[in-house]
Amino acid sequence: MRPVTRDAVPNNSPYAIRLNTMVSLQVDASQPPNWKFSVDSVIRALKTNTPSRWDLLQAEWYLATGTVPPANPGWTLPALLNAYATINRRLTKGAKGCNKAGPLLTGMFGEFCSFCEQYLPGHLVVQHCTPMSPFPYFTLCWDNLLLACEACNGSTGMLDKLTRDEVDRWGTYADDCARNVAIRGTPGNPATARYLWPDLNPLAYRNLVPYLTFWGNNQWNVLPFGESVKIGSAITQSSLANRHITATIFCNGTWYQNQTVMVQTSPLDQQALDSVNYYGFGRTGIGPGEIADCRMYNRTCTWFKAISFIGRLTSEPFDSVWPLIVRTAGQSGFYSVWIRVLHLMGGAGVFVPSDPTISYMQQFITDMAAYYPNTNTTAVP
Ligand SMILES: [Zn+2]
Repeated sequence: MRPVTRDAVPNNSPYAIRLNTMVSLQVDASQPPNWKFSVDSVIRALKTNTPSRWDLLQAEWYLATGTVPPANPGWTLPALLNAYATINRRLTKGAKGCNKAGPLLTGMFGEFCSFCEQYLPGHLVVQHCTPMSPFPYFTLCWDNLLLACEACNGSTGMLDKLTRDEVDRWGTYADDCARNVAIRGTPGNPATARYLWPDLNPLAYRNLVPYLTFWGNNQWNVLPFGESVKIGSAITQSSLANRHITATIFCNGTWYQNQTVMVQTSPLDQQALDSVNYYGFGRTGIGPGEIADCRMYNRTCTWFKAISFIGRLTSEPFDSVWPLIVRTAGQSGFYSVWIRVLHLMGGAGVFVPSDPTISYMQQFITDMAAYYPNTNTTAVP
């Protein structure tokens, strides 16, 4: 998983509401389940959270009701609550409000699924990390938004399956802000989160690296890491419809032809393991109900593409091959697959001809910045 760094919310964005505002809200248990914040705390947060929040309320009021909203600060309490209830209904029904953040997010992170790393320009949706249906108050929270493909997205995919009851099985939480912290952690302390999040945990790469497996004896077997990137390894047949790939691979000193292969992700700890299950990264995409899930298939194709392109460095001039590698890696997605393959092929110990202090790996990470914006490389090899 590619770790990313989130920019501050753009000025005048409707998503200017931040988690620290959420934390100032108090829960009122007498309210219905999806509306548990006390009236006073909502009013206080809205009033103190800059004019842009009022502007948003007014805009949403207009969109929702078609009538001109009461002027700020002329909102009466009933009018405000009415507006807020309407907004919440709109948002929890999947209205397009949050999708306006799409261009901001693709500009910030590139056109890659934040979770599975597929490159899908024009086909990503705004994903609520703390899901919006059980936790509607985080619908417009900038810190809660990432990009997801269809397979990772809540409506058809894996995310957004999290319920309030499930979170309450993990512990006892005072309010939804505390539940949000349990799900997401905080930027300074990501290890306490239930799941591994690319925007909050710089170890998102290291704790969930891709690795090559092949099918044999009715199970997926792990190739020795060094041999899993052997030059000459190549796909021999692939069927997107069946999510089936066979390849020539090198294992324990011997070449094998036409082995069924898949690139899976290796969880380093319990948090990463829970994340593999939650995000569905272990799914092959084969079988009923998995029609849109090409994630493992595409990840596997990219693995062999990376071996093929990086392998050319051993037989062709650096200056002619390198730009090709950079362009291909930049446009095929799966940042962590490219990093992993280059790393296993020894990229940290080989140096670019023009500067013997810069390794292939360092040069690659530098060059990838143009394609994968806001990558957090602090814990990438
Ligand atoms: Zn995805």
